Amino acid sequence: MSFVESLYQEYELIVGLEVHVELRTKSKMFCECPAYHFGVAPNTNVCPVCLGLPGALPVPNRKALEWTMLIADALNCKINTYQQFDRKHYFYPDLPKGYQITQFYFPVGEHGFVKLGDKKFRIRRVHLEEDTGKLIHEGDKSLVDFNRSGVPLVEIVTEPDFRDPADVKEFLKLLHLTVKYLGVSDADLEKGSMRLEPNISVRKKGETKMPSYKVEVKNINSFNFVVKAIEYEFARQAKLLREGKPVAQETRGFDPATGKTLPQRRKEVATDYRYLPDPDIPPVKFSRQEIDQIISKRPELPQERFNRYRKLGIREDAAWFLVYNKELADNFDKLLTKEPGLDFKGLAVFLANTPEKKRSLPFDRLVEEFKASRQKETLDEQTIAKIADEVIEQNPKAVQDYLNGKQNAIQFLLGQFMRRVRKRIDVGPVITYLRKRLDGMREG
Ligand code: ZN
Ligand code: MN
Repeated sequence: MSFVESLYQEYELIVGLEVHVELRTKSKMFCECPAYHFGVAPNTNVCPVCLGLPGALPVPNRKALEWTMLIADALNCKINTYQQFDRKHYFYPDLPKGYQITQFYFPVGEHGFVKLGDKKFRIRRVHLEEDTGKLIHEGDKSLVDFNRSGVPLVEIVTEPDFRDPADVKEFLKLLHLTVKYLGVSDADLEKGSMRLEPNISVRKKGETKMPSYKVEVKNINSFNFVVKAIEYEFARQAKLLREGKPVAQETRGFDPATGKTLPQRRKEVATDYRYLPDPDIPPVKFSRQEIDQIISKRPELPQERFNRYRKLGIREDAAWFLVYNKELADNFDKLLTKEPGLDFKGLAVFLANTPEKKRSLPFDRLVEEFKASRQKETLDEQTIAKIADEVIEQNPKAVQDYLNGKQNAIQFLLGQFMRRVRKRIDVGPVITYLRKRLDGMREG
């Protein structure tokens, strides 16, 4: 057993997640500046509100609230009729007001869950906040770009229910897909419109109390890096615990180059933020009917699409493949209505087995190839006779088996026939010919 394996025998991993998702609304969260900020000249999409100038009044973006409800609903959260924005105070150069507007006391949604197979992972809350500006480091100078300041940001917080990094990855993939299905975010990990933060702690196996600390790894931009960071942290923390040393509660960063995490800062406790209701923003109230109305417009979710495909009889692996390849599945669905007679089960499997490179071909081309692959050639009688006679001659044992009453022997001979032909053919006439010849031998 390796050293790390021995750690896994003795200790248990505990992971919770915080995921930030930037919404792709036209305007920012509390002002009318454009929310799109990638590749935009620095500090051009700004105004007194998102620069935090004194006297500027924030007004919540209705669309952002509605979209956050869609996310919360997709994660099976209860959606609050009373929602409120609070100030979270801290100092950082990318935060011009000295506080971030977020939802602390009354978030959009709470108490949800996500099911993966027969495992259930609880969602603690889904809340809406504003993004911060961005620091750009140039040589020994640091510059601030406030274009991102005030962009609507949804934070999804899970309970510490994960015990296996593979489940974390599965969960994140499904969450990412869900957000894309809802159409509310680009969810582009590389651009930072989706940011991942695992909270990791470790306890001795068999213990039921939650550890008194957690280590937060900030702003990871790939599912695989999250897995690596968790694995690294598990080994680091379990080793400390085995040596009888405490693990410090802190924030760490992940270095993709080394696969290691490095300390960033000691974590503030929640009270340090001096959360208080934002006096500039009245609480947001929705009636149940309004909420139901908003949610009723939400598009089909990945799990729902999967269930629909299964009802059509599509194989499980092919159904998941399509669900995870949304554009392909959208085209597949269009074809469902256009050509209802097509063999969809076959097409789904064909698409799932198509190499990735080829999948970028226009969808029509892929369907054509599928249809061509389905087309069976009917061989003429002479060709069948010529090949079948050869097969019979070269496989005396199978022939004898057949004559002795072993019916499967014909399948073997047919297999030999197919190996010679090497294309999709109509096998009916071949079987008929083989039986006729063999039965003839018996009589003769
Ligand atoms: Zn603005
Ligand atoms: Mn946040």
